[in-house]
Amino acid sequence: MWGADAQFLARALLDWFSREGRDLPWRRPPRTPYRVLVSEMMLQQTRAEVVAQRFEAFLDRYPNFEALAAAELGDVLRAWEGLGYYRRAEALWRTAQRIAALGAVPVSREELLELPGVGPYSASAVRAFAFSLPDAALDANLRRVAVRLAGDSSDPGRAPAQAGARKLLEGILMAGPAAELSDAIMDLGAMVCTAGRPRCDACPLQAACAATRSGAPEEFGRPPVRPARRELQIVALRIESEQGVLWRPRPTKGLLAGLWEPPHVLASDEPSEHAIRRVLTEWGVLGVHVTGERWPMRHVFTHQVWVGEVRRVLADAAPPAQPARWLDAAGLAGIAVPSAFRAVLSRGW
Ligand code: SF4
Repeated sequence: MWGADAQFLARALLDWFSREGRDLPWRRPPRTPYRVLVSEMMLQQTRAEVVAQRFEAFLDRYPNFEALAAAELGDVLRAWEGLGYYRRAEALWRTAQRIAALGAVPVSREELLELPGVGPYSASAVRAFAFSLPDAALDANLRRVAVRLAGDSSDPGRAPAQAGARKLLEGILMAGPAAELSDAIMDLGAMVCTAGRPRCDACPLQAACAATRSGAPEEFGRPPVRPARRELQIVALRIESEQGVLWRPRPTKGLLAGLWEPPHVLASDEPSEHAIRRVLTEWGVLGVHVTGERWPMRHVFTHQVWVGEVRRVLADAAPPAQPARWLDAAGLAGIAVPSAFRAVLSRGW
């Protein structure tokens, strides 16, 4: 440690957490490995407020590894709707099958890392939260608190800073209940030791913190600057016939794998009418009548933003090119639709 007393810090954190800690659904007992793993997968790229709305419903539907392992992947993807990044849902489903076969969740870091979708962070989180082991799940919040405590002004994303943060935090986690202490540090980073404006006067660790002594704690633990997202223009087509609306399953690999999509054109500039006609031909659409009805759509991915509109089109009910299908209201309710295309569903039915 950098000189501070781990016992003192652990006690201060637990005392603060008992007063200020957040009541989050996945922290409630019983904190089983299954609940921890599901919540960690959901939280990997989705905000806690969104996960809080979906967590219990998913658990009601799939209460344990066995139930999830026995489910159809399409049903799991549907239950995941609204959380985005569907590859996590498939990885969780595969992990459930692996664990159902093993009979128990492994405790060792090496074995956890062999499970689909479980990376270094999730492995530490399962060990800390499900087994209360002193393994620091180094998310941005924990890392920031640690580098500020130590007064480390190097890039917090680089390996040396991470190794120092891990060592410091694991010293604290060994001085008390590791799961609760991990929750406490996480909440401290989210609510007090925030990236832009840390509230050091409200912090239980102030007496031991090197960054606050420097007079400019916000200068420590700054996240690396992200590259700008690439903006793409989109025109998505809501094509209706007497048989329903036209959709097709996406390929099983790549962005939004295995989910369903409507006809659409993506381009770096506004898609041309020629490109839209080419898509209509590719999908085998006949007897086209463009209604003039259109409405905006926008979706933000990690590295891209799609901005554009949905156009409503009427067409003959001729068989479309495979694997596209006309879907009626029941058919639409039965497919997994990525959030990016939900605007196409929002009219008509
Ligand atoms: S004293 Fe300030 S900078 Fe240090 S850990 Fe607390 S909130 Fe963060």
